[in-house]
Amino acid sequence: MNLEKIGEFGLIKRIRNWIKTSNPDVIRGIGDDVAIVEMGRKVMMITTDILIEGIHFNMSWIDPYRLGKKSLAVNLSDIAAMGGIPKYFLISIGIPKRLPISFISLFYRSLRREARRFKIDLIGGDTSLSQKIVINICLIGEGDKEDIIFRDGAKPGDDLYVSGTVGDSALGLRILQTKNLKYRPKKLINKQLSPIPRIQLGQSLARNHLASAMIDISDGLLIDTKHILEESQVGARIWETYLPLSRQYRKWSTFYDDNLYDMALRGGEDYELLFSAPRNLRDRISSLSLSLKIPITRIGEILPKKEGFRIIRKDGREYLPNALGYNHFK
Ligand code: ADP
Ligand code: MG
Repeated sequence: MNLEKIGEFGLIKRIRNWIKTSNPDVIRGIGDDVAIVEMGRKVMMITTDILIEGIHFNMSWIDPYRLGKKSLAVNLSDIAAMGGIPKYFLISIGIPKRLPISFISLFYRSLRREARRFKIDLIGGDTSLSQKIVINICLIGEGDKEDIIFRDGAKPGDDLYVSGTVGDSALGLRILQTKNLKYRPKKLINKQLSPIPRIQLGQSLARNHLASAMIDISDGLLIDTKHILEESQVGARIWETYLPLSRQYRKWSTFYDDNLYDMALRGGEDYELLFSAPRNLRDRISSLSLSLKIPITRIGEILPKKEGFRIIRKDGREYLPNALGYNHFK
């Protein structure tokens, strides 16, 4: 059995079976956006993400400033997906000898600015020589035990929502990869290079108990929905035409794909929040969307597990999605 066959998620599934936690205060280990450990009345949320040059970012289009910002954003987004409050982080970096000090100082300047914006502190890390730039952040946050939103709480009959718009980041990446373009639409590029984690939205949903399950969209709308469905043991239906698409997405995606919805469904790195909620909360969710000025769109509904996971096309025909989204090794 090789990695190509089982993919990133198959591998994580195996690791999950190899490792069992022993401390009773571990509320959640492997299997959600963050790990959760009980600390009296509160819980500690811990998450880590790795970014590797050539895999997660490309030196020809990212600058140290945006790299710092994005490294933190992907971790903040995982805390947002649980409804937590981010607090501290550690950062380990692998750096090639060729890298100028000015690159590293700009990178840290960006971390400092983002840390101030999100009221978090850098409290340590590690440094090593490396062939390529490697960045690993471990972010620690806190939350109230009763407020945490896991991946496994979705119930048949719940609505399925997504914040912001979807597909912009994947399309932004395609545009960055296209050589000799005279003009590149800022909004799509920015979504790829500087995503904004939905910290405030995550906390509001948690505090007000407005979501039954939640995840952030890092690998793609379909695959991240699938994670909720697997953890919650349910099925779902998503209407393509309900997907929130930006004006720029509608315009530019036609150059890359005949199917308008493909990148929105499969593309990753939007770092929007995807969550389920009981139907009786519709009004409260619209009010929250208005008060935070963040679009929240109902895109589908949770079904019993036996119904599976289906996408409803524009013409009303249903299909079962395969080849869901980004998966390392595949
Ligand atoms: P996300 O996309 O939200 O960062 P991942 O898909 O990377 O989540 O991870 C899913 C779960 O698997 C998380 O609980 C994460 O901590 C765990 N995980 C990922 N890689 C490993 C690994 N190499 N060893 C142990 N646990 C892992
Ligand atoms: Mg996540």
